[in-house]
Amino acid sequence: MRYAAPTTIKEATGLMAKAKGNAFVLAGGTDLLVRMKSGLAEPDLVVDIKRIPALQTITRAAGGFRIGAAVPSAKLGEHAALIKAWPGVVEAANLIGSDQIQSRCTVVGNLCNASPAADSVPAMVAAGAKAVIAGPKGRRTIPIEDVVVGPGKTQLKKGEVVEALTLPKPAPRTGDAYLRFIPRTEMDIAVVSAGVCLTLDAKGVVKRARVALGAVGPTVVTVPAGADAIVGTSLDDVALARLAAACEAACKPIDDKRGTIEFRTEVAGVLARRAAKIAYQRAGGK
Ligand SMILES: Cc1cc2nc3c(=O)[nH]c(=O)nc-3n(C[C@H](O)[C@H](O)[C@H](O)COP(=O)(O)OP(=O)(O)OC[C@H]3O[C@@H](n4cnc5c(N)ncnc54)[C@H](O)[C@@H]3O)c2cc1C
Repeated sequence: MRYAAPTTIKEATGLMAKAKGNAFVLAGGTDLLVRMKSGLAEPDLVVDIKRIPALQTITRAAGGFRIGAAVPSAKLGEHAALIKAWPGVVEAANLIGSDQIQSRCTVVGNLCNASPAADSVPAMVAAGAKAVIAGPKGRRTIPIEDVVVGPGKTQLKKGEVVEALTLPKPAPRTGDAYLRFIPRTEMDIAVVSAGVCLTLDAKGVVKRARVALGAVGPTVVTVPAGADAIVGTSLDDVALARLAAACEAACKPIDDKRGTIEFRTEVAGVLARRAAKIAYQRAGGK
């Protein structure tokens, strides 16, 4: 196995493009190294992107934010402006593992590992985040929800590396929130999760919303019907019940030792309701 630590994204994509056999990007390594140790991944080449200075910063971009692919999750929780703008995204990133894991792991690694239960992804989808992908043919930017195409699978082509994530400037009176269910208090993988982002008008009526669920399908599930259920309302009980019903209807979970189909489906509705209420308060709704 060859290990390379380039210092520019161009070098990194060049190495990935020319690689023979299995080539993997290494960010925090908190997924990749576990898979290598258990024999599930056998790389011929590992390209460590943590030495690329341009990927290590959170910067303001077009009023929003650009989070470099090598930024550890812990840094998101230390960024006051990011917390103020996108508290739901930050709380999701800061639920990953433990302090030790967060000092290494990245939200881009969380995305590219392509687990349906990845914590940061529903929150980023709800927030309208995008992935900036660099490759041998240049750069392209796509919505976060289009990156993962199935469990463990992304749409990245040979030589492509996610360079950064972008979060838009939140419209006035916007709030977001992320909640997950795990059977213990931390260090566990979401059995079900929900991210909600909504924008209110001056009267506290929801005028835009995005709802995304984790661990209830092969990829993160967006629920446009859930968003429609709360748009035009002040998040009264009827709207919340409709949101929960839409989320339950959108679920296609598996049955496993961590949760049954029935349990995951019901909890998806419950978490979406609770996340919507938090997002509503954060947006300034009363
Ligand atoms: C003890 C422990 C607890 C954990 N708890 C949680 C949890 O609570 N919630 C949760 O969601 N996850 C959890 N995880 C999983 C893991 O920590 C996260 O998924 C983490 O965000 C992965 O980020 P990373 O930077 O370490 O990724 P890496 O391991 O470096 O990479 C993961 C995958 O993505 C690819 N990749 C990484 N960066 C890029 C890039 N820029 N471009 C293209 N491909 C890329 C890699 O090749 C690899 O296939 C846990 C892991 C451990 C070991």
